[in-house]
Amino acid sequence: MMPLLEIENLSVNYGAIQAVRGLSLTVEEGEVVTLIGANGAGKTTTLRAVSRLLRPVSGSVRFAGRDITRVPADEAVKLGIAQSPEGRQVLARQSVQDNLELGAYTRSGPAVKTDVYEMYERFPRLGERRNQLAGTLSGGEQQMLAIARALMSRPRLLLLDEPSLGLAPIIVREIFSIIRDLNAQGVTILLVEQNARLAMNASHRTYVLEAGQMTFNGNSAELVNDERVLHAYLGG
Ligand code: ATP
Repeated sequence: MMPLLEIENLSVNYGAIQAVRGLSLTVEEGEVVTLIGANGAGKTTTLRAVSRLLRPVSGSVRFAGRDITRVPADEAVKLGIAQSPEGRQVLARQSVQDNLELGAYTRSGPAVKTDVYEMYERFPRLGERRNQLAGTLSGGEQQMLAIARALMSRPRLLLLDEPSLGLAPIIVREIFSIIRDLNAQGVTILLVEQNARLAMNASHRTYVLEAGQMTFNGNSAELVNDERVLHAYLGG
């Protein structure tokens, strides 16, 4: 079967800095795939190349069989790719409801309203706070809003960048339980995480990045016991 996402030999630079070098990876429909690696390894850069916020210097990105390496970012959203960015980046001075409606900017019609209410069912705390300014939400609530906003475009592929960043352990567990539920409901996920153990436990496969290059990859259940991963990323 054709992978939903296929990155081939991707390189991305910021000026003279080679942030990602010759990276290849695939995500199959229905999978959760994790990217782990130290700070600056190129994880966020990879996600931003997939969501078309960055232009690669070489290599290709294919989504659902189509070459999207050069499509504009809003076209990528229309095709079914949504990103929940690192640091959440909710619109602080807009309400929860406005943030959700903005997440559906590529869509229109009554289905958008229905989907907003669906998000309130999935994330009851957002429903209770629908008129609250997003900037006054707690960190965990903002993370939920960032995920819900991404879901408003009805993505086939959800890119999650550091969903656990800066959150208390109990909230992190809640966010990961949401990630598992979303996947069980059919959303394919590419996840970037500092918390390697948690991410590997929640994913089917893992790619390890070092200094912009993929060093190894495999089934998360196997890699979680791999000496190289234990030593470098799991404090083992
Ligand atoms: P982190 O976990 O710290 O977010 P990361 O693995 O996501 O790290 P990236 O954010 O992809 O790493 O960064 C990869 C490299 O590119 C780093 O060396 C970083 O300093 C550099 N970089 C990232 N963004 C820019 C930018 N806008 N301009 C210049 N260099 C950048």
